[in-house]
Amino acid sequence: MEMKIKTMGFLGMGIMGQPMARNLLNKGFHLVVWNRDADKCRSLVEAGALAEASPAKVVAKTDVTFAMLADPAAAESVCFGPEGVLEGMKTGKAYVDLSTVDDFTSKNIDQAITESGGRYLEAPVSGSKGPAENGQLIILAAGDRALFDELESAFAALAKKSVFLGEVGQGARMKLVVNMVMGGVMGAFCEGLALGEKCGLKAEGILEILAAGAMSNPMFAGKGPQIIAQNFSPAFPLKHMHKDLRLAGELAAQTGQRLDISLSALRVFDDAMQAGLGDDDFCAVSKTVSD
Ligand code: NAP
Repeated sequence: MEMKIKTMGFLGMGIMGQPMARNLLNKGFHLVVWNRDADKCRSLVEAGALAEASPAKVVAKTDVTFAMLADPAAAESVCFGPEGVLEGMKTGKAYVDLSTVDDFTSKNIDQAITESGGRYLEAPVSGSKGPAENGQLIILAAGDRALFDELESAFAALAKKSVFLGEVGQGARMKLVVNMVMGGVMGAFCEGLALGEKCGLKAEGILEILAAGAMSNPMFAGKGPQIIAQNFSPAFPLKHMHKDLRLAGELAAQTGQRLDISLSALRVFDDAMQAGLGDDDFCAVSKTVSD
């Protein structure tokens, strides 16, 4: 269905939010932005967006508001808090939460938005800073199907692939499953590099052999050289992977699914958090496994 919505809001100008908002602006949508630390709105304003002083004001001024926030606490505070999303929400408006949260948080937000007359889509994304900049994310949407269809051209500005997964909660669960796998693989990758180096193997050589075989993948190809160079400038902050492994662990506990490898990975990321690596890229977990 052709997009009718012309006015958009965007809450959260972090690593992901800024480039995503910019892609919507570049696509020609009228954009109103907000961030808790207002300084981070500056580059979007210079590019033509309007900045507002609260989530409620953004929602009041726009047809659909996107949010890209750190975690469940941030998503709930921006939605339910003073001058939050709910205060501006009414019939005819829509809210799309792109943050990675648990299904319980997303359902709470869904219920509040729909009770106030609005429409809701959860839409966590797969892909990091580079895909956010290039409009090459994967959107994992669930909730209001008609809204998903109406947002086709907006999603096309953000992502190479958008999937609709059904009822609210399924997008959140898909995202946690995918990131749980990624966290475990990153932990094993870093341990492999560390073990190899202890045995006198060169890290570059290990990367070359991994890349030549069935385990070749863009994450090893991208993060491997960064780990060797000890360049941990964040594309995906370690604190967010820690959060995702924790939420995946909670999801597993609810469903009775046994997790051994992923809970081991969570413990390693716990240690990395304790060591103060939360704001580094998640591949900085290599420092923890090498200690
Ligand atoms: P980020 O750079 O840490 O940005 C987090 C954003 O949340 C900032 O705008 C921050 O505002 C805001 N925030 C945090 N706590 C808040 C609160 N209590 N109230 C209001 N705003 C709050 O994170 P990111 O990398 O953009 O990630 C955002 C979300 O996308 C996370 O859920 C993450 O798991 C997910 N994600 C990230 C990636 C990635 O590769 N980076 C990929 C896919 C999904 P301030 O600027 O004021 O602190």
